[in-house]
Amino acid sequence: MGYDGPTELYIDGEWTSATDGQTIETADPATEEPYATVASATAEDVDRAVDAADAAAARDGAWRSLDPSERAAHLHAMADAIDDLSDEIVLVESHDNGKTPFEAGLDVDMVVDTFRYYAGWADKLTGQTVPVPGDRLDYVQQEPLGVTAHIAPWNYPFQLAGRSLAPALACGNTAVLKPSSQTPLSALYYAEAAERAGIPDGVVNVVPGTGSEAGDAIVGHPGVDHVAFTGSTDVGKGIMSRAAENVTGVTMELGGKGPNVIFPDADLDDAAAGAHYGIFMNAGQMCWAGSRLLVHEDVHDAVVERVVERAEATTLGSGIDDDGRMGPLISESHLEDVEAYVQAGLDEGATLATGGSRPDDRGDGYFLEPTVLTDVTNDMTVAREEIFGPVLSVISFADYEEAIEIANDSPYGLMAGVWTTDLETAHGAAADLDYGMVSVNEYPVTFPQTPFGGFKQSGIGREQGTEALAEYTQAKNVNVNLEG
Ligand code: NAP
Repeated sequence: MGYDGPTELYIDGEWTSATDGQTIETADPATEEPYATVASATAEDVDRAVDAADAAAARDGAWRSLDPSERAAHLHAMADAIDDLSDEIVLVESHDNGKTPFEAGLDVDMVVDTFRYYAGWADKLTGQTVPVPGDRLDYVQQEPLGVTAHIAPWNYPFQLAGRSLAPALACGNTAVLKPSSQTPLSALYYAEAAERAGIPDGVVNVVPGTGSEAGDAIVGHPGVDHVAFTGSTDVGKGIMSRAAENVTGVTMELGGKGPNVIFPDADLDDAAAGAHYGIFMNAGQMCWAGSRLLVHEDVHDAVVERVVERAEATTLGSGIDDDGRMGPLISESHLEDVEAYVQAGLDEGATLATGGSRPDDRGDGYFLEPTVLTDVTNDMTVAREEIFGPVLSVISFADYEEAIEIANDSPYGLMAGVWTTDLETAHGAAADLDYGMVSVNEYPVTFPQTPFGGFKQSGIGREQGTEALAEYTQAKNVNVNLEG
């Protein structure tokens, strides 16, 4: 089925082609067929978008000057508009990214909830008074940053764009959003929803384009006051350097190598189900994937048996297959990278318990069988690097101390899972794990209300929760001398 949704840039409330007419071609990863042609922003288009956002973010601008309760009403209207567009967005996301409609539906629902959550905050941002010496009134108020840029990856194109957009808007900022050039379509539905919700012109600007051109122009733009970046650690480091040229603040949501730790007293059926979901959801293309399964040696074989059984029962399917439970990878080159990781694992001594090949029965599409590697040690490439595919590396441990040591021995620190029926083990591990998020007896899980982000090279700052309100505001201290 052809794509008939929005394909142009959205700047200052207008749909427009790129200044030099350049476009991006997208393909459906499940069929390898062309899917859509989308405008690709130039640096000049980025200038236009930042100017429009800047005007709306000014003190007398259309967004910042609104009463907070009106801003809240607009964000509730935006949530309603996204909800109304949900079926369309799910279909587009499935074709553009390859994820199953079930998974795309979860993403859209999460965005609706996120907009509603932050709509609630728009008129509840308060400051504080500070007790200082003498006859003075000293207070701190939180002010918007101005223009926030949102650069999103291809693995959760719609959900991750909305995750930072909603709090930024609630705090009175305006936005320029650049989706990945591999999945540019669903972001345009934020523009569609903003129009339907009556959001003033210039508040939400969407500029699909490449990272090297549009992305670089955004990050290096002196009119941008904050960059909310979600993507790989390597690109994130480059963006931090580029943003530093204008001393622009950043939020960095980067890669991960999550340990999912199964202690011997865990409910093994639940743990195996969580291990499966934690690596094969979204075909393993998840920052928070539980890609290292740490299993106590006493229950190792029983867990592997269950996980392999689940992996082999997983049906592969495209965005339009109702029975698909795992979609394709995003592209041929990414599939080749993941296959190379599997080979590296085998070369370094891991054992292939299941999977490892392209399925025979799928025809076209960038599918890989759900793959489980056993006999992995934590120094192997498959245990150290983010594979970003449906490849689970199983590592055995002998006791609690060894489990924590292996889990923390990683450059990343995004999410860790713990499976146990013992409260002391659960809370002890939660305290001992160097991760921004720890989930006990389910994996992975997050909510708009809870902070999302990582320790170490998994990032800086937090999205979601009240923590994101601090990311998108700046403190102003006011001292008033009351003497005389
Ligand atoms: P990526 O290659 O780092 O790209 C992310 C975004 O940055 C894309 O929009 C990309 O545009 C853009 N970009 C690339 N180079 C740029 C530059 N020089 N200046 C400005 N923007 C630039 O990441 P990805 O492959 O899309 O996503 C996968 C990665 O994201 C994984 O490492 C994953 O762990 C991480 N991730 C983290 C989280 C989290 O919350 N911590 C969530 C999801 C994903 P183009 O695509 O057009 O190049």
